[in-house]
Amino acid sequence: MKKNQYVVIGLGRFGASISKELIKLGYEVLGIDKDEEVVDELSSVLTHTVVADATDEEVLKSLGVRNFDCAVVAIGDDIQSSILAAIVLKDLGIKKVVAKALSELHGKVLNKLGVDRVIYPERDMGIRVAHQLVSPNLLDYIEISKEYTIVELSVPKNLCGFALRELDPRAKYGCSIVAINKQNGIIIAPTAGDVVNENDVMVIIGTNNQIDKFESEVI
Ligand code: ADP
Repeated sequence: MKKNQYVVIGLGRFGASISKELIKLGYEVLGIDKDEEVVDELSSVLTHTVVADATDEEVLKSLGVRNFDCAVVAIGDDIQSSILAAIVLKDLGIKKVVAKALSELHGKVLNKLGVDRVIYPERDMGIRVAHQLVSPNLLDYIEISKEYTIVELSVPKNLCGFALRELDPRAKYGCSIVAINKQNGIIIAPTAGDVVNENDVMVIIGTNNQIDKFESEVI
């Protein structure tokens, strides 16, 4: 099967980081930026790089951008350029357009233009960091809906050596431990007899309330 090809517009910190990761994952990436210096820095890393103004429809057409599977608009501060690039990409008929928004209003405009996914990296990172600040054992979390979350919690000293049947978060709090990441491997769907130890990471799914309760009463 043919691997998806990506075009990333704006190779600042965000765009560069997405492009490099896609390359690491084995995908082809065309990177476009109007700043020659930025493009030069990535020219040996990405599949193709071009110095161009992404708000110019003719330029994007001539680059064959319409044949790409997904376009990422990673233009930062220049909201006007971000919006124009998104319009051009949607007009070209690219299957999936993803764009970074600087503010809620910028995001609303991008949504109205038909952008398939709007990302708010700074807002989301701020929320993530706040969660980690208030909960020292929280390593990471993914919001799977407004109510449900998956969290990674490091096992605190007071829980070391306990089997899941003793913790029993499902009966006591309603949330479930769906995996235990141990140094020698991960246990997916652990059973009641599995024991958590120091340096293990518990992966827990539940509503925010259930996980909060588990964290505050057990940890
Ligand atoms: P970040 O916060 O991700 O570093 P920046 O705003 O610093 O974001 O970077 C955005 C990049 O987008 C810059 O390298 C800039 O040159 C590029 N850029 C801005 N407008 C355009 C445009 N019209 N066409 C192509 N690249 C653009």
